Amino acid sequence: MEHNLSGAARPIQRLRKMNTAAEGCTMRDAFGREINYMRLSVTDRCNLRCRYCMPIEGVPPTSHTDILRYEELLRVAQAAVSLGIDRFKVTGGEPLVRRGIVDFIRSLKALPGIKQVTLTTNGLLLPPLLDGLLDAGLDAVNISLDTRDNAQYQAITRSSHTADEVLHAVRLCAGRLPTKVNAVLLSETAAQLVPLARLAEELPVDVRFIERMPLGVTDIAAEPVHREVIGRLRAVWPDLAPVHERRGNGPARYFASSGLRGCIGLIEAVSHAFCASCNRVRLTSTGLLKPCLCYEQGTDLKPLLRGGADDAALRDAIEQAVRGKPAAHCFAERQAVTERKNMNQIGG
Ligand code: SAM
Ligand code: SF4
Repeated sequence: MEHNLSGAARPIQRLRKMNTAAEGCTMRDAFGREINYMRLSVTDRCNLRCRYCMPIEGVPPTSHTDILRYEELLRVAQAAVSLGIDRFKVTGGEPLVRRGIVDFIRSLKALPGIKQVTLTTNGLLLPPLLDGLLDAGLDAVNISLDTRDNAQYQAITRSSHTADEVLHAVRLCAGRLPTKVNAVLLSETAAQLVPLARLAEELPVDVRFIERMPLGVTDIAAEPVHREVIGRLRAVWPDLAPVHERRGNGPARYFASSGLRGCIGLIEAVSHAFCASCNRVRLTSTGLLKPCLCYEQGTDLKPLLRGGADDAALRDAIEQAVRGKPAAHCFAERQAVTERKNMNQIGG
């Protein structure tokens, strides 16, 4: 299969299309997809070492000077908003380990034109920060939890933390702001499908099951994918059926049941390519703007930010990255994956 790595090889549409002032700006890539969502990684550090995300020895910490300062991240966000990217997901590493994160989210949310700021976290540091985050205007949170079993949680995260700590954070968030629980599907957690889905029965939260993506150096071989997730959940909630309304900015397919307060989501990153409707770019904590998860290509914004480039140059660089967004990822053919970074360095 041929991978179209460069939109530049195709006839380029006028990339930016100004709508009415009230509608703001819309940016489309070379394949006509509207790009309105940026994952913004604020750190590559983390208080966990999840087996599918980081190698056991961890990754050498990036020096502080290589990580974008909050003012630099805000400058990129402002330029992105002016191009039509108005939804941001703050990610990492673990974003809550970075000092000043609540004030950063407050400043991000206050940028004119921003529609939504959400956060993805492992939840461990969330409880004492929750009131501040709500006050800062955080719109929604995703909390990662792959198992409700404490011993299994410790094995997967290679830490002494427990699933109970994460569940505490989930319970605090539920009902106070839109909350999603994200579980990466692993063969060892097959028995956790129903216990995890029960969170959507107990609480007003969505529970989403994510196919593990073959990225970075990990110590696990590829697991068989749980293709039968919905079938197995239907044994407990027989009326589980697809929901057609759009929920959030992501590629999840959602299912609802009269017995559940939240929805069940499936993020089939590998088996069910959703690239045709991809709306996102990713900014790593060191300033690389990545148009697609599985390729190492990106546009390095740090030299511009630190070299005195003006806002127009920054906008041009963002447009250049969007122009280079490939048609699709290549996870089905591992040899075509050129990204060598781990997920904690990319932001998920
Ligand atoms: N530390 C935060 C957390 O765990 O939510 C934010 C960063 S983490 C890299 C973002 C998301 O990526 C998490 O939901 C995590 O489970 C997911 N993730 C990490 N490695 C993955 C992989 N190889 N395949 C699929 N999802 C992965
Ligand atoms: Fe840390 Fe999140 Fe990666 Fe786990 S998935 S090691 S919590 S960055």
